[in-house]
Amino acid sequence: MKRTADCLVIGGGIIGMLTARELAAAGREVMIVDKGHLGGESTWAGGGILSPLYPWRYPAPLTALASWGQRHYPSLIEALREATGIDPQWEPSGLLILDADEAARALQWARAHGQDLVQIDGAELAGLEPGLGPRPGRALWMPGVAHVRNPRLIKALRRALEVMGVRLCEGVSVNELLCVGDRTRGARTSAGCISAPQVVVAGGAWSASLVTGLGLETGIEPVRGQMLLFAARPGVVRRIVMQDGRYLIPRRDGHVLAGSTVEYVGFDKSVTRAARLSLHEAALNLVPALGGFPVEAHWAGLRPGNRDGLPLIGAVPGMEGLYINSGHFRNGVVLGPGSARMLAQIMGGQPVSVADPDPFRPERSCVPA
Ligand SMILES: Cc1cc2nc3c(=O)[nH]c(=O)nc-3n(C[C@H](O)[C@H](O)[C@H](O)COP(=O)(O)OP(=O)(O)OC[C@H]3O[C@@H](n4cnc5c(N)ncnc54)[C@H](O)[C@@H]3O)c2cc1C
Repeated sequence: MKRTADCLVIGGGIIGMLTARELAAAGREVMIVDKGHLGGESTWAGGGILSPLYPWRYPAPLTALASWGQRHYPSLIEALREATGIDPQWEPSGLLILDADEAARALQWARAHGQDLVQIDGAELAGLEPGLGPRPGRALWMPGVAHVRNPRLIKALRRALEVMGVRLCEGVSVNELLCVGDRTRGARTSAGCISAPQVVVAGGAWSASLVTGLGLETGIEPVRGQMLLFAARPGVVRRIVMQDGRYLIPRRDGHVLAGSTVEYVGFDKSVTRAARLSLHEAALNLVPALGGFPVEAHWAGLRPGNRDGLPLIGAVPGMEGLYINSGHFRNGVVLGPGSARMLAQIMGGQPVSVADPDPFRPERSCVPA
């Protein structure tokens, strides 16, 4: 069977879904193919914090892309809620960072980029998060940082795409990109060939394997992250709290996510006892009362890691009609809206209004293998 679309998006994680949404909104006929369920991989496993962790450690272009997403999330959530009736639970809880040793650098970054980040003392900290364990004398506070509930965001996006007429092919794997000379023609999948003049690789951690057949390597690799879910009650944790790379995220119904590990173990998505113990200990150090609640779930996801910390967004060099939107590593949820708009503008031949696209151009790391 040979099906056709204007644009074929390979991979239905948050990046593929948001890209498809932008393309459909621009009047294109869009099809998404996913080997599993839409949003079922890294996007489902993630925490949904709408800020890079320790944002001052990232290059300026990433700050620009994240800021665009942060500004546009409220309207995205509202649009999804209106179109689908599903609420992704956008919560502006704020982010407390208890590692104060980087305060000078953080404050300088905040001034340079117009970000809302202040240093607070122990009393203010106790007021913001009464349940904290041993409290440092000072902390960093980002009151504007929000989080979303990933499974609900996925549901809402999926429904919104259906409403927009995007064709969703789940349980269908892309085996090979179809090219004639230096022009993309579509893809060969487990359910037959799909013909499309524009193809977007949004395969998350698996993106590299999609372009190796073209003799290209991307630098994108899987990075495992494990997470625990405490069945706590509302109020036990009020803010996103972070220390030494470990964080807690309070959901509206009282559940608390505790994340996350960063492990270079290939495509192994299993969970480990060592990570469970370490995440549990870090969570109880932050908020001791969590010790009174059971761990309801423990899972792992594979982030699409990338060498230079910036995602690849744009045309794949040397192959007309082929685009990539991948390599968002720890920040795909916050970077997703800006990345999707940027790529849709590039594909439509329009000026890019989101941020300077040059630092994200695939040429820098999408090179002959
Ligand atoms: C534990 C953890 C915590 C995180 N916390 C946050 C956070 O708080 N904030 C934040 O912004 N980000 C966070 N992230 C990162 C974020 O989840 C990712 O950056 C984002 O989900 C990447 O989205 P994606 O669409 O590129 O990849 P994915 O969600 O992995 O989607 C890729 C899709 O491509 C499909 N696919 C792959 N190959 C093929 C093929 N050959 N054929 C068909 N389909 C294919 C897969 O089935 C998959 O559904 C976290 C990640 C993890 C694991």
